[in-house]
Amino acid sequence: MEAVVVIDILEDFVTGELKCERAKGIIPNIKKLIEVARKKNFPVIYSNDAHLPTDFELKKWGKHAMRGTRGAEVISQLKPSKDDIVLEKRVYSGFFETGLDSVLRNLKVDTLVLTGLHTNMCVRHTAADAFFRGYRIVVPQDATEAFTEKDYKEGLEYLKNVYNAEITDTNKIVKRWEKK
Ligand code: ZN
Repeated sequence: MEAVVVIDILEDFVTGELKCERAKGIIPNIKKLIEVARKKNFPVIYSNDAHLPTDFELKKWGKHAMRGTRGAEVISQLKPSKDDIVLEKRVYSGFFETGLDSVLRNLKVDTLVLTGLHTNMCVRHTAADAFFRGYRIVVPQDATEAFTEKDYKEGLEYLKNVYNAEITDTNKIVKRWEKK
């Protein structure tokens, strides 16, 4: 079973405190992926920063995606639907103290399609933890972004070289799913 993971497509990362100008371009592709996944009954999982004021990560980045604020909400174009799973995280990895692993195991998921922000940070750390736990990793390169082209490119290379991620694109995944 495959699941789509949507990482940090939150107001603060797309429009607010830690805005990534390049994020806009990937929104239609993530939308396409989650719509087809829902239609095919593949789990759609949101992995969202939801920081507490005591979080260590804020020392590096300043306040962002603070739990309960608008900045921590998923952007309006990609709002979760009622059957999606929404998990809060407080560090880069979507696995760290979030319960994601048991959710995936209960759903018999063995492959993660990782999307969202940023290729070289939260996507990378989520991929690391997925790899350690034996999940196969697929990354549609037109559904993830980073602050700069360099960060994005290096992020993808790292995912491929270190976590054996299949780097592909949205249309190829959608086409494959539609045949299932
Ligand atoms: Zn954060």
